[in-house]
Amino acid sequence: MNPTVVPPPARDTVPERQAVINLSAIAHNIAQLRSIAAPAKLMAVVKADAYGHGMIPVARTALAAGAHWLGTAHVAEALKLREAGIDAPVLAWLHTPSTDFAAAVSQGIDLGCSGWELEHIAAAARAEERPARIHLKIDTGLGRNGSSMAGWDALVSDAIAFQDEGLLRVVGVFSHLAVADEPHRPETDAQIQAFREAVAVAEDAGADLEVRHLANTPATLSRPDTHFDMVRTGLGIYGLSPFEDRTSAQLGLVPAMTLQTRVALCKDVPSGQGVSYGLNYVSGRPTTLGLIPLGYADGIPRIATGGPVRVNGVTYPVVGRIAMDQMVIDFGPDGREGFSAAEVPGSALGATAVLFGDGSGGGPLVEQWADAAGTVNYEVVTRISQRVPRTYVGGPGGLDGTPGSEPAADEGGA
Ligand SMILES: *Cc1c(COP(=O)(O)O)cnc(C)c1O
Repeated sequence: MNPTVVPPPARDTVPERQAVINLSAIAHNIAQLRSIAAPAKLMAVVKADAYGHGMIPVARTALAAGAHWLGTAHVAEALKLREAGIDAPVLAWLHTPSTDFAAAVSQGIDLGCSGWELEHIAAAARAEERPARIHLKIDTGLGRNGSSMAGWDALVSDAIAFQDEGLLRVVGVFSHLAVADEPHRPETDAQIQAFREAVAVAEDAGADLEVRHLANTPATLSRPDTHFDMVRTGLGIYGLSPFEDRTSAQLGLVPAMTLQTRVALCKDVPSGQGVSYGLNYVSGRPTTLGLIPLGYADGIPRIATGGPVRVNGVTYPVVGRIAMDQMVIDFGPDGREGFSAAEVPGSALGATAVLFGDGSGGGPLVEQWADAAGTVNYEVVTRISQRVPRTYVGGPGGLDGTPGSEPAADEGGA
C-alpha cells in the first residue's frame, strides 16, 4: 500500500512586503508643481534615495514628466545619476573635504559652494582641465549651510577671480528657507530680502546667473515671491503635504508610496493576553490578534504604537510595542461597532495589510504614522529601509485623473 502523498500547499507569489511606488503619481505631482511654479523651472530633489522612493526610477520619471533639473545633497548621489546614464543638469550641495570634486567636475555636476569648497573646486577644475559650474550659497537665516552674510562679498569676489581665470563659472546663487511650512511667519520675508541683496552683489561683481533659487516645496506652494528662476521641490513630488493644516488632496498632490505587507498570523487569544515586549497591551476580552511582519528594521519607528494598519477595508491601530521585524493589531472590538471574533477567523491570514498609501478608499496616510511617531511625513517615507523591496507601477504618463491607474511592468529597484 502506498502512503498517500499530500502535496505541500502552493506558495503564492504575492510579495511578502513592498513599498509600491506609483510613478504615475510622481509624474502627476511634477506636472502640478510645474504649473504652480511656472515660469520658474523645477528641480526634482532626489536625495536620500528619492526620500525612500528609489532615486533612479524617480529621477527618470521626473525628467520625463518635465522636471528641468535634479538635486541631491551629496556628490556621491549625483554620481549615481550619471552612472545610470542620466545627463540632465544636476546640483549637489552638501560637501566635506572628502568629497570627490574632481569626479563631480568631470561628470558635469553643478556644485553648491558655501565658502571653503571654492579652493577645492578650483583645484579639481584645474586637474580635470574642465571649468566647474558652481552655485554660490548664501545663508539668509537658516543657520545651516551657506556663506554668512558677512562673508558673502569676499566669497563672491574670490569666485569671480577663479571665473576670470577660466576655472569655473558662477551659474547660480541659492539659499534655503527656514519656516516656509508656516507661511504666516515673517522670517521668510526677511530671507527673501536678504537673498535679493545677495543676488545683486553677485551680479554686480560679474556673475552671469542662469538660476537664482530659494524655494523648497512649502514655499513653492505658498509663496510665489520665492520662486525666482527655479524651485527645488522634494516632498511635493512624492505627493506629500509640508503643511500641518493642508492635506495632499487639498494641494492637488497624490502620495506615491504605498507600504504594504501580508498578515502573517491570525490567532484567537483569551482575555488578559499580553502583547509584544513589555506586555504593555493586554487584551480586555477574548479577541483575535493579527501579526504584521514589518518592524523597525523595515524603518517603522519603534515609538509609533497606535499607527494604522488597514486589512480587508478596516483600519486597526497597532497595539503593544513595535519590534524589529513585527507588530500586532487587535482585530477585536476596541473602537469597532458590533464586532464578533467570528468576523476575522483565520481568513485574514495572508490578507493585504496596508500601513499607508494614497488615501483612496479611506486608506491610512503617512501623516498618521508621523503623528504616531512624533515626527514628520518626510522622515517616515525616507526611513523605509532597504529590507523592503520597492515595486514600481505606472509611468511618466501621469494619472489621467484617476489615482492608481493601470500598473505597468516592474522597473526593478534602484
Ligand atoms: C532637501 C532640500 C530641498 C527640498 O525640500 P522639500 O521641502 O522636500 O521640498 C530643497 N533645497 C535644499 C537645499 C534641500 O536640502
